Amino acid sequence: MHTDLVAALDIGGTKIAGALVDGHGQILVRSQRPTPAQRDGETVMRAVEEVLGELTASPLWERAAALGIGSAGPVDASAGTVSPVNVPGWRDFPLVRRVREAVCGLPVELIGDGVAITAAEHWQGAARGHDNALCMVVSTGVGGGLVLGGQLHPGPTGNAGHIGHISVDLDGDACPCGSRGCVERIASGPNIARRALENGWRPGPDGDTSAAAVAASARVGDPVAVASFQRAAQALAAGIAATATLVEIDIAVIGGGVAKAGEVLFTPLRKALGDYATLSFVQRLAVAPAQMGTDAGLVGAAAAALARRADAATV
Ligand SMILES: [Zn+2]
Repeated sequence: MHTDLVAALDIGGTKIAGALVDGHGQILVRSQRPTPAQRDGETVMRAVEEVLGELTASPLWERAAALGIGSAGPVDASAGTVSPVNVPGWRDFPLVRRVREAVCGLPVELIGDGVAITAAEHWQGAARGHDNALCMVVSTGVGGGLVLGGQLHPGPTGNAGHIGHISVDLDGDACPCGSRGCVERIASGPNIARRALENGWRPGPDGDTSAAAVAASARVGDPVAVASFQRAAQALAAGIAATATLVEIDIAVIGGGVAKAGEVLFTPLRKALGDYATLSFVQRLAVAPAQMGTDAGLVGAAAAALARRADAATV
């Protein structure tokens, strides 16, 4: 029997996606349910089991050698538990054990969603060929992950590279995480929009007050909208520069909804990096938009499962 495939789960606050993925990152079977995020933990788990049920019903399932989970965090990979901020019914929820039970004992690998996206970008996307990379998702929140020495670096609990909660403004605004002046508190989509509104930006006739609407205004030169993106870019640059100085990355890949603003974000970001990434060994740091689309979480979870399978094969 060929066990040349892996199964993948991507668990977020809005959807639970599952797939069977081959060794080239191609998705062969997929399944999806909305996340009943405001329901109790068992109801959320039933949605996961429905997704797994569709995968295990596939004739390809018997070729799956391992299962990778990328989950909204925080996760604790060492304990096999998850406590996603946006899924209050899950606190220290034993997701690895429950998924393993649902798939009859297949090996299960858990990583955070930022780490999963990093695995996907390193395997198939913008960080391909880079041995030392920081990959970030800038959207409702700001997350990330690291590739160091050619290997994904999830850290002991699966959260390493969580750049959104590095403080870049010592006495800055209180962050929901408990710290102050975090990258996320300045650079996330909702904070870009909030800052623009506070400084007098007004939405168009459609009433859209999202960061995408602020980006559209910035693109046509609205100075308040431009300034809000510049401030976000400055926070991202400070966080990226700190990371590069600490562990010597050579590329920072940025995805997520806010990155779709394109040059409205990337032009001030490259400029601000010049202000913060100053030492000789970080000056060549490249910044690139993410290449993986909405399947990044699934592909990254599959990459983690493949790495686990490879580890098992060498034992
Ligand atoms: Zn924070």
